Amino acid sequence: MSKGSWLRRMGNEMLDLVYPPGLYCICCGKIIDDSRTYRLCNDCMRSMNWNTGRRCSRCGRPLAETDPGRLCFGCSQREASGHEHSFDKGHACAGYGACAQSVIFALKYGGRADIGDTLGEILYDFMLSEYEADELAAMYDIVMPVPIHADKLKKRGFNHAELIGRGFTERAGLCHDPGALIRTRGTVPMKGLGPEERRANIRGAFEIRNSRLPLIQGSRILLIDDIFTTGSTIDEIARMLKSHGASRVDFIAFAAAGDMVI
Ligand SMILES: [Zn+2]
Ligand SMILES: [Zn+2]
Repeated sequence: MSKGSWLRRMGNEMLDLVYPPGLYCICCGKIIDDSRTYRLCNDCMRSMNWNTGRRCSRCGRPLAETDPGRLCFGCSQREASGHEHSFDKGHACAGYGACAQSVIFALKYGGRADIGDTLGEILYDFMLSEYEADELAAMYDIVMPVPIHADKLKKRGFNHAELIGRGFTERAGLCHDPGALIRTRGTVPMKGLGPEERRANIRGAFEIRNSRLPLIQGSRILLIDDIFTTGSTIDEIARMLKSHGASRVDFIAFAAAGDMVI
């Protein structure tokens, strides 16, 4: 190791002593003090597209100001064509913009597993803006993170949705079961696929672990994911859970992409 890189490393370690990892903004990396909400600096707190305005009453994505109805375009198209979502109700804490993207990328691809707990806290606070804490604690029988394929799990070392789910359920007092669902195969990226192709792509990609099957009948389930885009993944899991008797399947995601044509 050259003297320069050693000194640089020492410098970084010294910096870590003064500013532990928790003291950097999880979005832009700027140094912050530990009183910052969700470990975001003021700028990123403001730039995060928090989903506080009107939102789709079915999938929860933010509605455009020009959108007059209670449903987003995608959900109203589905309602009109008889291809309604399989889930009952969705929630999303933020619109998917540059800020949400960089937080999600740091968690998923930057090895920042610690961000999972912060997103869990955000999910919890978002639900508290809609429900009382005791109401929320009684709303669901099981919380299940969307599973990732074993190959991906091996590569990444963790399922990001599970870390978010843990942070959420610890605060909400709900039962977290990260082992209930299994992703049996990978899928090709959904981007550019039509609605029918997306459904075919994801069909049968998930299973319920045998030992959990008896628990599904009549249960109210909340699915957890980082981002909601077309809804194909959540729909497929909800369809499968309902075919095994689940009485209700909702989801909450940290971020939701804007309205889209299905
Ligand atoms: Zn920041
Ligand atoms: Zn919608």
